[in-house]
Amino acid sequence: MGIMVTAQPRGSRSDPYFLRGLLYCGERRLVPVYSARSARYYACPNLRCRRLLVLAEEIEQLVWGRYVQLNADAADTVSRDRRRDALLTVLQGVRIGASLNDLDFSWRD
Ligand SMILES: [Zn+2]
Repeated sequence: MGIMVTAQPRGSRSDPYFLRGLLYCGERRLVPVYSARSARYYACPNLRCRRLLVLAEEIEQLVWGRYVQLNADAADTVSRDRRRDALLTVLQGVRIGASLNDLDFSWRD
């Protein structure tokens, strides 16, 4: 699959990757990529990783879903382009385990 690292600046309002910089596979930080068909993924920079690509929509739904569980009131008022800001105030990072159902959230105190 042909992939391409995005050149958009971090934290850009138009950046669709609102988990940019927040996802980890082991100690490696996942990087946003597009596939040749313009599907969005977060990719592990370790090329020998068993799970190179994580479908962006899927992991974003899982992480945002957890935020909504914990912050139901705030979640109603946060539009998609504000999700990154909302997450950054409470979330340090998410480590992805053996599967996408195995997420280790690091919340700020
Ligand atoms: Zn990995």
